[in-house]
Amino acid sequence: MVGTLALPALHASHAGTWLRDGGSTRGCSKGEAVTAAADTPLLLLNAPLVATRLGYPDLSGLDLLELFAFVHPARFAVPTPKGLAHALGIAEPTSDDDVPLFLQAAAGRLIEMCESDDWPEREGAWSSLQSLVRLRWPWAQVLLPHVRKPERAERWLFARLPEWEEAPERAQPSHVLIEEEEVEARLARLTGEGAERREGQRRYAREAGSVFAPRAKRGVPHVLLAQAGTGIGKTLGYLAPAHLWSERSGGTVWVSTFTKNLQRQLRRESGRAWPPARGDGSRPVVVRKGRENYLCLLNLEDALQGGFGGRAAILAQLVARWTAFSQDGDMVGGDLPGWLGTLFRKRGIAALTDQRGECVYAGCPHYRKCFIEHAARASAQADLVIANHALVMVNAARGRDHAQRPTRIVFDEGHHVFEAADSTFAAALTGAEAIELRRWIVGPEKQSRGRRRGLAARLADVASYDEAGGKAIEAALAAAQALPSDGWLQRLVEGTPYGPVEALLGGVRATTYARDESGGQEAGYGIETEAAGLDGPVVELAAQAASALAAIRAPLQRLGGRLEAILADPPDWLDAQGRARIEGARHSLTWRCDLLAAWEALLDRLGGPGDPEFVDWLAVERSDTREFDVGLHRHWLDPMKPFARVVLEPAHGVMVTSATLKDGPDWDAAIARSGAAHIEVAPRLAEAESPFDYASKAEVLIVTDIQRGDIPALAGAYGRIVEACGGGVLGLFTAIRRLRAVHGRIADRLARSGLPLYSQHVDPIDTGTLVDIFRDDPAASLLGTDALRDGVDVPGHSLRCVVMEQVPWPRPTILHRARRAAGGGSAYDDRIIRARLAQAFGRLIRSKDDSGHFLVLSPAFPSRLLGAFPAGTPVLRVTLDEALQRLAERRCEGDPPRIDGDGQAAKGTTETT
Ligand code: SF4
Repeated sequence: MVGTLALPALHASHAGTWLRDGGSTRGCSKGEAVTAAADTPLLLLNAPLVATRLGYPDLSGLDLLELFAFVHPARFAVPTPKGLAHALGIAEPTSDDDVPLFLQAAAGRLIEMCESDDWPEREGAWSSLQSLVRLRWPWAQVLLPHVRKPERAERWLFARLPEWEEAPERAQPSHVLIEEEEVEARLARLTGEGAERREGQRRYAREAGSVFAPRAKRGVPHVLLAQAGTGIGKTLGYLAPAHLWSERSGGTVWVSTFTKNLQRQLRRESGRAWPPARGDGSRPVVVRKGRENYLCLLNLEDALQGGFGGRAAILAQLVARWTAFSQDGDMVGGDLPGWLGTLFRKRGIAALTDQRGECVYAGCPHYRKCFIEHAARASAQADLVIANHALVMVNAARGRDHAQRPTRIVFDEGHHVFEAADSTFAAALTGAEAIELRRWIVGPEKQSRGRRRGLAARLADVASYDEAGGKAIEAALAAAQALPSDGWLQRLVEGTPYGPVEALLGGVRATTYARDESGGQEAGYGIETEAAGLDGPVVELAAQAASALAAIRAPLQRLGGRLEAILADPPDWLDAQGRARIEGARHSLTWRCDLLAAWEALLDRLGGPGDPEFVDWLAVERSDTREFDVGLHRHWLDPMKPFARVVLEPAHGVMVTSATLKDGPDWDAAIARSGAAHIEVAPRLAEAESPFDYASKAEVLIVTDIQRGDIPALAGAYGRIVEACGGGVLGLFTAIRRLRAVHGRIADRLARSGLPLYSQHVDPIDTGTLVDIFRDDPAASLLGTDALRDGVDVPGHSLRCVVMEQVPWPRPTILHRARRAAGGGSAYDDRIIRARLAQAFGRLIRSKDDSGHFLVLSPAFPSRLLGAFPAGTPVLRVTLDEALQRLAERRCEGDPPRIDGDGQAAKGTTETT
């Protein structure tokens, strides 16, 4: 029997508000709930979400999620009553009015755990609780009587974490030939005895093997573009030759993904080929992410010792609990619950990572335990490194260690390589970026708290040993005063910029507003203008800012030279740790010098003709009418050009694979977007069709009677679609304001029918957690922007209908206009739209038992876009009523949609794809 915690409890959903007090639960008004919460701390689940539902942002109380994070750090739980019930192994509430009683039971279960001898996460809890008492964490006094003091004093968290071991450098891989039959045999071994022989997968695996052949010519890698329809089994298809090659050659294969879902899947599937650990304890498979994903222990220590105040200090304590039990210290998509950060409503999680490259490497007291260093060392010894596109590109462009740069790479979700390259190789001279550089050089100023240290403090020993180095640091510090400082945006708005870079940003802001053509319609969203035909005074400001930047770069370069000299002729005091620190500093300096040079190049061209290789523009970034950044941007017209030079050319074998690489039967765009042409490689092309029977499992409905811009009709359509399907709807929008308008009109009504509707940009929940909630509840539906489509991998009944509010036209940004002009005009747009439709459609059928509908609410849907859908998929143009009828029929039958023998549905027009 689970004991309950007899404290008053509150639950609020879109369907209503329920309060439990004095042994009974009753529905109440929002006002009553707010008053009750102000009088006494109430038990509740996800305070920010309840606060949004009540329209009372200051709500606080005893949040079960915070208690869960304390009792079971590093454990997964979907942050809903049902999810918490599953995580705790207790009965889930069956209706909204059951929830308050459930909250009491769940709190009771968690507190019981604290008393139990079998509490797996007991270590460190008592000490942490003492700190939480001092911080007045609402749960602290409730827990105190239940968490016993350990008999022996507990070790300080940082003493308990394991250290990484130094390992000898790995030898270069041998050049081996792997035969097609061997690849097939390895695939058969990985898929297992008795697994169905899938010809498409075997052919795909043989093709994948081709990228592991020895390279014939320097700078000319093997490049394979492989389209693999959903359900082919592509992951094992490329892991089979990768496993074989790494076993024979002793080399490392990198698999790069775009989404965390695929990373998780790869981690799972690689377990068929590699054991979790080798005989010597090292790991053959390592997930590696950008350093900004990992907890920085030095930042955490600082936060625990007073660097964070108020609620953020409580967050730091809960993160410290997690640190002791985390697998790998990954705070973004790892085992830290995605919802933890949003409970504290500030950027606390980001402040605990190493966002700004201010790591002091071997100068850090936690260097030997650092999660980032652990991951980097483990990946150097791994057979398989699972990473993401951005990291692979950054590592190739400016990795610290040449020997660790990837040479055999599989880019899965390859349709995203272009956009990852686009952001990796772009430059932005904005206020936010420039102030980061200032902080990196100067360190903390005025009232700013924290452990951040400037260049002088990080290299104090160099400054005292090497006079020229010391002078270079002083000069850099003086020159960096030209960069924006705290309050820069306010000064820009008030027209009182300080220093040459702020003055330039002031000119950029004024020009962007002066040229704005949106007539205020786009208030709340970013605005931009071409960096062409600029006024003389702005050009003059750009020239002054460029010389100020050059004046920062020069001493930084001199300092880099001095560090090189110290490393070449090391003084006696320079031990291995000091050396590692100076190498780290030199690496960071090179990166900053490159950044400054890129900014200068961008400014230099403002007065003259543009460089046809680049697209440059000025922008003011805004969100909800608030400006948050101002600056100049430069993107490559074709970012695959630097990609080819930095990633392809040094590699030996590269495979780019995806379910949506080609455009219909056409490979041209895929080849162009691989970058192969820039190094004169003709890529090998392969295709494996999906084994799914789309003709009987899926149906595309183009709804023709919802007019564009008619928000009430759009909201009404969404509401009726969700009702007809009984939930399980993923709604994709191209504009946040339409998404919010639709959600606001239908969420309450649907919730009252037991159909919860969650939404990006409305619910204060991170996107990964929203998808977890959606997956966990077949009655739930989820709305999001178009960008959500890639993060949703929900096989089975939870996703049975995808709705696009309109044809996903590309936004006509300056960058898009330039690429459109260079890429064939409207044909370029069509390719983008087809790719988006194909990716969105791909969410629907994830396994052979899935079935469902794909709806586009658009009276004008050109037939030329139908090539986006897999061959044979039935497409009908119907009215909303007809569409609803088809959805409801399928729901009653629980069967896949049926098309009459002649391909005609009950009404409407059928087209084939
Ligand atoms: S080594 Fe760098 S990233 Fe790691 S804990 Fe220390 S400062 Fe943070």
